[in-house]
Amino acid sequence: MVAPERDAIAAIATPPGKGGVGIVRISGAELGPILSAMLHRPPRPRCAEFRRFLDADGGTIDSGIALYFPAPRSFTGENVLELHGHGGPVILDLLLRRALQLGCRLARPGEFSERAYLNGKLDLAQAEAIADLIDSSTTEAARAAQRSLQGEFSAHIHRLLERLIQLRTHVEAAIDFSDEDIDWLEDTAIGCGLAESLDDLQAIERKAHQGALLREGLTAVIAGRPNAGKSSLLNALSGRDSAIVTEIPGTTRDILRESLQVGGLPLHVIDTAGLRDSEDPIEREGIRRAHEALDNADCILLVIDARHPEASDELLTGLPEAIPIIRIFNKIDLTGDQASLVTSQDTTTVHLSAQTGEGIDLLRQELARRAGYERGTEGLFSARRRHLDAIQRAHAALVNARLYLGTKTAELMAEELHAAQKALGEITGEFTNEDLLSRIFASFCIGK
Ligand code: GDP
Ligand code: ZN
Repeated sequence: MVAPERDAIAAIATPPGKGGVGIVRISGAELGPILSAMLHRPPRPRCAEFRRFLDADGGTIDSGIALYFPAPRSFTGENVLELHGHGGPVILDLLLRRALQLGCRLARPGEFSERAYLNGKLDLAQAEAIADLIDSSTTEAARAAQRSLQGEFSAHIHRLLERLIQLRTHVEAAIDFSDEDIDWLEDTAIGCGLAESLDDLQAIERKAHQGALLREGLTAVIAGRPNAGKSSLLNALSGRDSAIVTEIPGTTRDILRESLQVGGLPLHVIDTAGLRDSEDPIEREGIRRAHEALDNADCILLVIDARHPEASDELLTGLPEAIPIIRIFNKIDLTGDQASLVTSQDTTTVHLSAQTGEGIDLLRQELARRAGYERGTEGLFSARRRHLDAIQRAHAALVNARLYLGTKTAELMAEELHAAQKALGEITGEFTNEDLLSRIFASFCIGK
């Protein structure tokens, strides 16, 4: 594990802009000078105290609630001070500057969470769940992230790790007694242990896969002539209760992509109408990203006005050929067609009306089916590709370990068990490296 840094860090923890309350958060091993300079004296631990926040001359920058959490009973495990002032950018900036003046360093994105992890307050999967909770774009995703944050995912992993450690101890004992008559690897206890571990791992893998889907969702490209009903379709898909979320959290505003939720699953839609040339650097970056997302899109939604069903295939030029197409004949309320979903070898055709909503559920179900999403899976926790990858490596190692059952190669089996253990340990952060850590925490927001 990496040694924690000890210097004091500070950041504005509330989002930019104006609001009722704005919070500056400070964490470090030694906050004494800051407490006396900004507050005269430290507030009582874990008690909200109304205070003046002082500048260098003893003048008042702002007044508000000061909260002091002495180590180790704090989010980061260090001494933490929170100043809850008025939520204006200038005030917050002044408070932050004052903290920097007093020796704090500006926190890197996610550095508070990173310290919480390094100080053993959270494991890595829980720390990632914080970011996932903040970034979640559907209710289901938020619930799943909350479960991970509460440690459900980690608890599954820990139970499995314990079982693997027991198995390994058992197998390693066989190495030491390999001269004896008893063939240890025929031992049914080992066989059963392996089988149970594989079952557990599969159950976790299934949930993690659903969890990752909830987090990442499905990406669709939408194409169609002007007035075919693209915007109407997106509105209809997103449903009554879930407004269109036009911004992808954590990234700069990206006009070519829209995110909506379809049956609890985030659906990211790339609008090909936006994929024109542009001189504007920000727009160009948006277009570059849209093209990148395009290559990994799960499907193309080609919207066609059912009254003019002539080929719209020219709209598909320039789109990657490998992406499956769903042809959507819209406006059936005007043609009298029945709502339907027809899947043939290489195309899926849906007849619907974005206006009346007829047939929209067919399309929703089709999208969920393509994603492999099973709505209502109990006890989902949020997971990331990184976790899935680790689970799959652990799985492969256990399958290999099973091959050595009944052979006299206890060492090889022990090695596979160790590999599985290491892979799972990467999820919670028991086995990790600085590179991975900085990649994970760099995607957090500042002040988190
Ligand atoms: P876009 O240019 O492809 O985004 O198309 P819009 O969604 O803006 O729709 C163009 C026009 O078609 C609007 O006047 C919509 O109200 C209308 N429209 C869209 N879908 C339907 C539909 O299913 N039935 C009917 N009758 N009109 C529709
Ligand atoms: Zn439109």
